[in-house]
Order: sequence, then structure tokens, then C-alpha cells
Amino acid sequence: MSKIPVIIFLGAPGAGKGTQAVFLSRSKGIPKISTGDMLRRAVEQGSELGKKAKGIMAEGKLVDDEIMLGIIKERIVMEDCKQGFILDGYPRNIHQAAQLEQVLLPEMQMRVIDIHVAEDDIVKRVAGRRVCPKCQSNYNIYFHPPKKEGVCDLDGADLFRRQDDDEQVVRTRISTYKKESYPLVEHYRKKGVLQVVNGVQKEEEVTKEILQQVACQ
Ligand code: AMP
Repeated sequence: MSKIPVIIFLGAPGAGKGTQAVFLSRSKGIPKISTGDMLRRAVEQGSELGKKAKGIMAEGKLVDDEIMLGIIKERIVMEDCKQGFILDGYPRNIHQAAQLEQVLLPEMQMRVIDIHVAEDDIVKRVAGRRVCPKCQSNYNIYFHPPKKEGVCDLDGADLFRRQDDDEQVVRTRISTYKKESYPLVEHYRKKGVLQVVNGVQKEEEVTKEILQQVACQ
């Protein structure tokens, strides 16, 4: 019996993880789990989780590992994850990676895709990002503009700029990424489950590379 895929996206802020995870989710028919989206929703709703996460997110730092593990554990046992799932934004550090490995089932197979983007490109990518509040589609006013300015191609909702895409916060997020998340690349390389994809090319090309990688793993 073939194993249940657990596809993890790595990449700096603005590398295109969210966008590519949406494409892959549609193409494979398995859900994309974005911890960032889940936290933003919790903040909007003003839940206990949202209250805890709000300030940390606004500063570009990481929410506590135990809280994140709780969220992930609850989500991945849901019915729609039975055929596999895509993780966008989790794990974010080595400790979270170890915690995740403890909760995955033996019949699951981890595959990791690192969308690589040089540091100089990152700030521009994040500064140009616009998000649809309805379907979470990501656009970029420089690289991937919507057909009509400020409006989602798919559902016509008004696009917004994430609060933590402010340039100062972006710099903190990049430094958090380098310190906390970058070691994951080596961690997964050693495990033999890492595939690196060039994130500085047309979005469709990135998607094509990812689909090829996923198909041949
Ligand atoms: P993202 O949309 O993935 O860039 O996440 C936005 C923010 O949510 C991050 O800057 C963190 O503050 C928080 N966050 C998302 N995922 C995690 C995670 N796995 N661990 C800790 N904090 C997270």
C-alpha cells in the first residue's frame, strides 16, 4: 500500500510557500494546513489562542512550540487529512520538527520542499504581497498581480496587506527565519527527504518543478 504523503513546505517569508501550497493542494486533492492562516483567523476571532498570538505575530516572532503542536495535532486527525496533507509554515524550528515526527503515523511519508529565494529578493517579495481574505490566495503586485488591481481573480474580494508584511517586521521575520527555521533545511537533507526548488522563476515554473519533485519521490 502506498504511504500517506505529508508534504512540508520550507522557505523564507515571501518565498511563495503559501501560493505553491494552494496549487499543490488543488492538484493532489489534499488539504493545505497553514499555521499562519490559522493563527490569523484566531486573532480575528479574538479567541484565547488569538489573544496569545497577536503580539508575537505583530513582532515577527514565533508562537510557543507547545501551542503550535496542540493546533497541529488537532488539525491532522481531521477526516480531510486521511489521504495526506500539506504543511505550510510548520514546523518552524528543530524542536517543532521533532515534535511533528512524534505525532506522524508510521504509514505516513514525509516529503520536504524548500523553495529557495536569495535574501535580497525576499523583502521586495513580501512588501508586494497582497492576500485574499476569502480564499487566502496570494498575489504580488510586482510578480503576480491580480487581473484587476486590488481584487481577487477567483472571488472578487478586496485584497489586503498583511499587518506583519510591514518592512520593519519583515526584517525581524527574516532574522527569525535564519536563526530558527534555516537549520531545518539541513535536518531534512540529512534524513534524505529534502528537495530544493528554485523560487526565483515564474510562478508556473516553480509549480512545475514542485509537481515533478513530488511525482518522483
Ligand atoms: P506565516 O503566515 O507562516 O508567515 O506566519 C505568520 C506568523 O504566524 C509568524 O511570523 C509567526 O509569528 C506565526 N507562526 C506561524 N506558524 C508558526 C509556527 N509553526 N510556529 C510558531 N509561530 C508560527
